[in-house]
Parts: sequence; structure tokens; C-alpha cells
Amino acid sequence: MYETTSDSVELARKLVQFPSLNPPGDEKACADYLAHLLRQAGLEVELHEFASGRPSMVARLGGTTDLKPLAFTGHLDVVPLGEKPWSSPPFAAEIRDGKLVGRGSSDMKAGVAAFVIATIAQAKRNKPVRGITLVITAGEETGCEGAFHLARVGSLGKAELLIVAEPTSNLPIIAHKGSVRLRITAKGKSAHSSMPELGDNAIYKVAEWIRRIEALRFEDSHPLLGNTTASVTTVSGGQNINSVPDSAGFTVDFRTVPSHDHGELVTEIQRVCGKEAAIEVVTDFKGFATAPSHTAIEPLMGILEERLGNRPNPIGAPYFTDASALVPGFDNVPTVVIGPGEAAQCHQTDEFCYVHQIDEAFEIYTALIRRMCE
Ligand SMILES: [Zn+2]
Repeated sequence: MYETTSDSVELARKLVQFPSLNPPGDEKACADYLAHLLRQAGLEVELHEFASGRPSMVARLGGTTDLKPLAFTGHLDVVPLGEKPWSSPPFAAEIRDGKLVGRGSSDMKAGVAAFVIATIAQAKRNKPVRGITLVITAGEETGCEGAFHLARVGSLGKAELLIVAEPTSNLPIIAHKGSVRLRITAKGKSAHSSMPELGDNAIYKVAEWIRRIEALRFEDSHPLLGNTTASVTTVSGGQNINSVPDSAGFTVDFRTVPSHDHGELVTEIQRVCGKEAAIEVVTDFKGFATAPSHTAIEPLMGILEERLGNRPNPIGAPYFTDASALVPGFDNVPTVVIGPGEAAQCHQTDEFCYVHQIDEAFEIYTALIRRMCE
């Protein structure tokens, strides 16, 4: 029933109307709807739950050869609405002034709708030479949980190129940073604060370590991403106002360039803080970088050049996406993040996506499918 450009806008509206908030993680109804739609179109759909009621899906349109498929990915979860009231109901998916308004419109149901409709249209046309794999995840916003689960259970297979349909105003991002978050704690010895010489102050230790981390300058860099950065994000310690604290700790979020090995970074931080620092890795997300000259992205870059009249400059992004899990899951597949909507709209009150960008994304994905798969 869906197969033209306007249908990708219709499907985007339909998807926004599912309040797939995370937390708590209400993706199931939306995922079931898409699974049904894709099965009806002849795709083979597998659902994998990383937790009860939290399905991600891998949908395949088989090709007539064993060429590695073209893969698209997007997530169905959306972030909470925030404190500030919305000027229209956030799940009504109204179209006003050329904008689809609603939570999840830019981030990222418009992108999912555009590649789903482009794939269904191909399925109705004919069986492609090269297959298409769609990876539609749950739990992205809270740490790419669905994508990591798919990579772990080995359900992805191979891919020639991965398109991440996150909002980039349909411009190509060919690299993004990773992140490694550490909790670093110090032990001390408690004493009455009138006799500090009897204690060992844990807060002084972490204060010193925080200063050393602040002073670090990382040499690892990438032409589109700059350098690895560190931010100390939380700090805690002490029990009451008149005791020498016997424990203290802080968290730090390193945003890393893809060449910066996370294991080596942790070793360096241990050396910087000293043996007394207890370091726990809280989360670990890899970045990715596709070479601008990689032949796998050439069909996409050619399509963009024809549409725009000149070749767009590839971009790097400081944030990370499900690509952190899926690039290694697909055996280091060349990857481009490109999709409708504005990155600046993500997580905002009155989030919207320009309707014309949904049309454009559908056209770009359709052209890419024709060029790579027919
Ligand atoms: Zn997103």
C-alpha cells in the first residue's frame, strides 16, 4: 500500500503516532507494525529482543546473487518529552508549515520511513541483484542496546555499505567519534575532621586526579573529528561535614577519535592517576571513519553530486550512533550517516522534520538502491 514519495511522509506520520518512549522502552507496537508491513512486502523479518518486550529487527530482501547486501539502519525509540510543554500534542504527527511535528520526527522516524518505503518499492519492482538488509533497533537512546544485542547474537551477516538514517539534513557524515566513560574511585581513611592527621582524605586524591585529566591533551586526531576530548561529568564523596572522607569518586566521558584504542586510553588514565585509582569502564562505544575515497561510498557520493550540482564535503560528527555497534557487527562495513531532519532538532521540545527532507531522503535512498542493487 505504500510505494511512492508521499508514502514515506505518510509512514513517518504513522510511526510518530506510536509513543515509543525510552525510557521505559515502548518500541514493541511500532516494531510489530513495521515487521508486519515488511513481511507483507515479501521481506524476511527476524525479531530479536535484548530485554522482554524490546525487539529490534533485521529484515532482508534477498538478491539474485551473493553480492554483499546494502544495509540501512534506524532506531524506533524516542527520548522523553521534557518538562517544557509542547505547543501541539507530541504524538499527533501534525504537518504544519511544511514541517512534520512530533517527538521522533527528526530523531529518527522520518529516516526509518524513507528507507522502509524505498525498500518496499524495490520489492514490488523486482528482486534486486544485490540484497537489502534493514536493521531497525530498540534502545538506541540509552546506549545502543538493541544494536549491540544484534551484533552479539550474530544476526547481521555481511554488508557492502551501511546507511545510518539519523538526521543530517541529508548530508553525508562519514566519521563519528566514540565514547568511553569511566568511573574512578579513591579509598581513604575516615577520621574526625578536628584530627585530619589521623585520616587519609579520599577527596584530595580525586581532586588531584581530576586536575591531571583536565590538563591532558590527546594527540590522537582525525581530519573531520579533531582530537579526543575528556569531560569530568560527575563527582561525589564524603559522608558528612565533620569527617575526613574515606571514599570519593568521579565519572569522566572521553569522546574518542576512531584511531584511539580504548584499552590504551584506560591504561594511560591508570598511569596518569596512579595505582591507587580504581577504574571501572561504565560504557564503551566505538567511533567509525570511512575513507572519503572508499569505493563503497562512491555510488552515494555520485548521487549527491548529481542532485546538488557539486560534490558535498563529507562531515564528521562528535556524537555517536548505533554505528558504534553495527560497524563492528557488520565486520567493519564502510558507513555513511545520512538522513532527513536536523541534528539540532534531536531531543528538543516541538521537535520537527521538514517534509521536503523526507521526500529528498526517499529519493536519495531509492537512487542508491537502483544504482547498487539493480
Ligand atoms: Zn537518533
